Amino acid sequence: MEHMHCLRCNREIGVGQKSVALYMFAQTVGVRPRQKSAAHRISFCPQCAVSLAMGPPPEGALNMAAWDMIRDLVGSDPALNQAAWETLSGVVGLLPATGTDGTRSVPSPGSFEF
Ligand SMILES: [Zn+2]
Repeated sequence: MEHMHCLRCNREIGVGQKSVALYMFAQTVGVRPRQKSAAHRISFCPQCAVSLAMGPPPEGALNMAAWDMIRDLVGSDPALNQAAWETLSGVVGLLPATGTDGTRSVPSPGSFEF
């Protein structure tokens, strides 16, 4: 049983909970013997995935590639967005109401580093 944490906010992502997983491994090409690194799994909670996808492109080619993939997922189905809002409204519900601002805002995107 593995416990995953969101790479960005470090929230624990339980088994069966909604999240976005990125799988990554490296492999030599045209070199003998062929070598393959261990596969890494990187997880983001829905809120961070949506936030990242809606934010500006990150620095670095590798981050950029991951960002593109996350944007693909977030852009192709509203289900992930909905999951993010569910999580967010759960958090907002715990905060004292201001009574003035009824609008919801997406958390500002943070840095995106491996
Ligand atoms: Zn997160």
